[in-house]
Amino acid sequence: MSVTTTQPTLTAPVFQKETTAGNYFVSNYPPFSYWKPAMVPELEAAMARPPAAATPLGLYVHIPFCRKRCHFCYFKVYTDKDSAAIRGYLEAMLGEFRRYASQPFIGGRKPRFVYFGGGTPSYLSVDQLKQLFGGLQRELAWDEVEEVTFECEPGTLTDHKLKAIRELGVTRLSLGVENFDDHILEINGRAHQGKEIARAYEYARSVGFPQINIDLIAGMLEETEANWRACVRRALELAPDSITIYEMEIPYNTTIYQRMKAEGKLVAPVADWETKRRWVHEAFAEFERAGYTVASAYTAVRDKERTRFVYRDRLWSGADLLSLGVASFGHIGGTHYQNHHDFDPYVKALEAGRLPVYRALTPTAEERFIREFVLQFKLGRVSREYFRGKFGMDPVEQCAEGVSRLKQWGFLTVAGDEMRLSREGLLQVDRLLQEFFLPEHRSGRYS
Ligand code: SF4
Repeated sequence: MSVTTTQPTLTAPVFQKETTAGNYFVSNYPPFSYWKPAMVPELEAAMARPPAAATPLGLYVHIPFCRKRCHFCYFKVYTDKDSAAIRGYLEAMLGEFRRYASQPFIGGRKPRFVYFGGGTPSYLSVDQLKQLFGGLQRELAWDEVEEVTFECEPGTLTDHKLKAIRELGVTRLSLGVENFDDHILEINGRAHQGKEIARAYEYARSVGFPQINIDLIAGMLEETEANWRACVRRALELAPDSITIYEMEIPYNTTIYQRMKAEGKLVAPVADWETKRRWVHEAFAEFERAGYTVASAYTAVRDKERTRFVYRDRLWSGADLLSLGVASFGHIGGTHYQNHHDFDPYVKALEAGRLPVYRALTPTAEERFIREFVLQFKLGRVSREYFRGKFGMDPVEQCAEGVSRLKQWGFLTVAGDEMRLSREGLLQVDRLLQEFFLPEHRSGRYS
């Protein structure tokens, strides 16, 4: 089957219309395929150095367990581990944390933000959560933590568990709703049902989380115009502090891609990119009419003065991120690293007294500049002065070719200090960011 292309404006580049297999979302730079096992000693060297002055420290904790594997999931997740295996994993992760906590790169710093991601952190029982939070806090005190984010799957939440999560110090709850319709949830392999969403949300509100986010996905299997509009309406009825929308992508390690391959199909059976972008565009417009503000390519917030994204903003401006757990990604003292992808090598490395790191990369100063520039561009605007002050590089000069192309295509304006993306540019920012990559990284993979 051939893949057709379309031309969005007279001057913009031709882009692929259908959703085919591959990664779209840019989460880091340089792409992961350039990180290598041979560079792991660079991480060990970074750990042995004191931190750069005033660099904040954050903690990412990866919980790779889920009740079911969603058909669009591209993470390494486990649906078959019993409570003994989960306890063993938590102990291994705490052992990993202890190894880091005594290293010079900590330099007396305390974490400023903590993020529990997955997988499904809310899959853990209350006892397991207490074991995990207690163990982490024994090593480094949390008295300077500004935000604790916790990802949840609605069907795993009870009022008892939500109360415990709040009491353990979580400030920002992120609910993986994705869609409200039972048929769409079922056909996409989600474990929860529509009725569990409102119940979990009401419980969460009643126990007083300062910030609740709802995640939606535009373009799930069998999604229709009517369904999408209903999802946007239902999300607004809940009135969460923020709503995040991802456009469905089909990386190679998803069940959907496996089926496409078996059937010899090149095009994924989901909405095309133009439709997904239009759906996000319409949703953002609807959110704005309801008083929300579009705060990034993916997120709208109800109260922009009050709603903070400490994890995102610190990470996108070069904070150290100490990441724990299988397959997790971190960034310490200027070196990127990723842990082993699989449960057994991860646990075995720690049992043998080794760090469970699989690959690493120390970006050059120019690559660090590009990393922060492309990540901050997802906010829709960047300050040139920030980059001149921090890196001695002006993005308009340093990325002159990319800037000129985006301007020509009508997606970017530069006015004084500010570089700003149009709404159309913001809605396809991950595709446009490639224009700022070094030529050798343009074919890199995010896997
Ligand atoms: S809940 Fe999230 S991490 Fe778990 S299988 Fe689904 S998409 Fe993957």
